[in-house]
Amino acid sequence: MAIFTVKTRIYSGADSLSWLQTLHDKKVWIVCDGFLAGGENLKMITDNIGADNETALFTDIIPDPPIATVVAGITEMSRVQPQVVIGFGGGSALDSAKGIIFFGRKLGIAIETFIAIPTTSGTGSEVTSACVISDPLTKVKYPLFDDSIYPDIAILEPRLVMSVPPAVTANTGLDVLTHALEAYVAVGATDFTDALAEKAVQMVLLYLGKAYQNGHQQEARDKMHNASTLAGMAFSQAGLGLNHAIAHQLGGQLHIPHGLANALLLCHVIRFNSRDKTARAKYARLSKLCGLANFQSTDDYCVANLINHLRNLMLQFNIAGTLSSLNIERPRVLEVIDAMSTAALHDVTLASNPLPASVADIRGIIHG
Ligand code: NAD
Repeated sequence: MAIFTVKTRIYSGADSLSWLQTLHDKKVWIVCDGFLAGGENLKMITDNIGADNETALFTDIIPDPPIATVVAGITEMSRVQPQVVIGFGGGSALDSAKGIIFFGRKLGIAIETFIAIPTTSGTGSEVTSACVISDPLTKVKYPLFDDSIYPDIAILEPRLVMSVPPAVTANTGLDVLTHALEAYVAVGATDFTDALAEKAVQMVLLYLGKAYQNGHQQEARDKMHNASTLAGMAFSQAGLGLNHAIAHQLGGQLHIPHGLANALLLCHVIRFNSRDKTARAKYARLSKLCGLANFQSTDDYCVANLINHLRNLMLQFNIAGTLSSLNIERPRVLEVIDAMSTAALHDVTLASNPLPASVADIRGIIHG
């Protein structure tokens, strides 16, 4: 039996922020980072929240949010006692809000409504049951999956993403691609998640380059924002895999931005997973659907074309697709490669990969 549930109500496109005007007489608590707190994007949110509500801000969010941020957030939420929490920002802000709500509830701090408003097109956190919190002591990023942290409402306003610089646009867009590709071959994939993943991949291949070249191209931003949410819905139900299991370690140990970490591994993981006949056939199907091979092509040919296409796409964004291409000293990588490979084996996302992987397999993929 397969189950497919969408718990989050999604408002998308121009004017979607106007839904906030339906809030009345509420204490609203907005969780975001310092950068967004000081900008025009926040004004777009607060302008839509009526004056009969009381609004407070929590702006301590940093990339790859650590446990300490969640703890500080719980203390602040307990002081403010909001009815409505708005997670506003990239995945780091949305995940922090989720962590604060999850652990805050355990301590008896209940909220009525959780609204997620993403400002990057990447993580899909606005529709997932996942949040990723880092422990700076162990240098491990811990993904937590729990049905109670699905946002109630997601608002997808593409204008909020226009200020994202090109490199972050590329990294986060490749995160979308990785979510969709991992969900597509994951052990939990169904016809429902496949439909979402196929659409997300097609949209990324069509629109990421355009959003990278011109961040103010409304259609490209719109499509990438929707693709991010589609991919989030796919992986939240189907699962992720080896790519994320390793990427979490590259983030935890080497502080490589999440989307870039995923991108560096993506082609290597596709090649690895293609050893599995079913996964290979699915990559081949996707390659044909995206027009990268024709319907008579062999599966091997289709997968090779998919990998080549992804490599070329990344080169447009100056991403070479190996860890060694980054400016990280080799001794630093060698120092932590054993810890990363072992920790990847214990990452919860590995369980849904179509093939089991050994420490040696993981080391090979990290080396590229
Ligand atoms: P991020 O939230 O860390 O943001 C990256 C940078 O972009 C930050 O400096 C931020 O200030 C900036 N930024 C955000 N919006 C902007 C805007 N509109 N204009 C200009 N700058 C902007 O990056 P991310 O990739 O969105 O999130 C990554 C985090 O999400 C990681 O911790 C990752 O592990 C996690 N994640 C969570 C899920 C999930 O389902 N919960 C899925 C994938 C990744």
